Amino acid sequence: MQIKGNISLKEFNTFGIEVSAKYFASFRSERMLQELLSQRLLSIYTPLILGGGSNILFTKDVDTIVMKNEIEGIELISQDEDYFYVKAGAGVNWHSFVMYCLDHNYAGVENLALIPGNVGATPMQNIGAYGVEIKEVFHSLEAMHIKDKALVVMSNKDCSFGYRESIFKHKYKNQFVITSVTYKLKKEVEFNISYGSVAKELEMMGVKELSIRSVAQAVINIRSSKLPNPKIIGNAGSFFKNPEISLAQYEELKIKFPSIVGYTTEKDNVKIAAGWLIEQCGWKGFREGDVGCHEKQALVLVNFAKATGAGIYNLSERIIESVFQQFQIRLEREVNIY
Ligand code: FAD
Ligand code: NAP
Repeated sequence: MQIKGNISLKEFNTFGIEVSAKYFASFRSERMLQELLSQRLLSIYTPLILGGGSNILFTKDVDTIVMKNEIEGIELISQDEDYFYVKAGAGVNWHSFVMYCLDHNYAGVENLALIPGNVGATPMQNIGAYGVEIKEVFHSLEAMHIKDKALVVMSNKDCSFGYRESIFKHKYKNQFVITSVTYKLKKEVEFNISYGSVAKELEMMGVKELSIRSVAQAVINIRSSKLPNPKIIGNAGSFFKNPEISLAQYEELKIKFPSIVGYTTEKDNVKIAAGWLIEQCGWKGFREGDVGCHEKQALVLVNFAKATGAGIYNLSERIIESVFQQFQIRLEREVNIY
């Protein structure tokens, strides 16, 4: 196992930001990870664990060791009457995992097709799209404690999942390396096409009988038409979370802005489409140098070529401020900032 010095991270983050890591190493097994964590360097530096780099904005050079998780492997470990229990290495590409599930007729992840990144990061922010979140199919994970190098198992409850949230963003921040995730996938399919665009796309595709493959294809079609491909324009997906406000505040705003887009949540609050708020403030399609706000989805900040992370971050500050001035709603960043 080799620890390299002064490595460019441009190829390792989907924003395509040019920064360097003081040290860099990758690992393909738990044993390699344990060896790496035992190195002397690790008693000085807290490592930054990297998956596909699709939810990170680097605003400066990384003054520590970046450790890239490349643990592969997908395995059916057990099944019961209702579920298949499938374990995947943290370094498995998420979309490949979804395709594997479609091939084996394991249901539950079809709405989450084409989300970039790796399996190991799926519990980090409880990834979600088109009405489904990973917590609904998550069974357990294995993670290695960075300091004592013990391997622990955590259940769904242990992870404290919330809207784009988990315990790994708070209490356990920078404490564990997730090495594998076991998903609980349904034998009997329950389709979720409650997001209008999915139902509309299925209709346009001429689908008469739903299947997990057709739902995944509908999601792939919508995403491909709407979201910038990071290989062409640097981005990390939605830069901000959709804010939740009280029903009273929503009703007040609705009088002033009748076209405001909101959805009632389980807690009887209202989730506001952050993209709509940003668009109303005039940012959609904005470009200044190589920093911009995507022309088809204002929630996505982009690097057209040689933007710096600080430039993208500054734009996010300006957006937060203008949305607050107009709507008294303070947007929170979803992307991890370094
Ligand atoms: P990284 O960016 O590498 O890491 C993210 C965070 O997790 C970092 O803090 C990192 O330190 C930590 N981390 C990563 N792996 C591990 C590990 N094994 N152990 C411990 N910590 C770890 N997200 C959604 O939820 N829904 C979407 O629909 C969606 N669409 C997107 C569309 C586009 C075009 C893009 C670019 C991004 C989108 N995202 C979406 C965001 C992103 O794809 C997800 O958050 C994804 O899960 C990040 O995975 P990653 O492997 O790239 O994580
Ligand atoms: P969209 O369909 O234009 O809808 C805008 C927002 O309204 C979404 O963010 C969604 O919230 C919410 N919404 C729409 N229909 C809803 C419904 N029936 N019930 C409850 N909430 C509803 O959104 P989009 O930007 O094209 O994204 C589509 C899906 O992919 C969304 O789920 C989005 O979260 C996900 N996505 C996520 C990222 C990321 O980086 N996190 C990037 C791209 C797409 P939710 O976001 O809470 O679902």
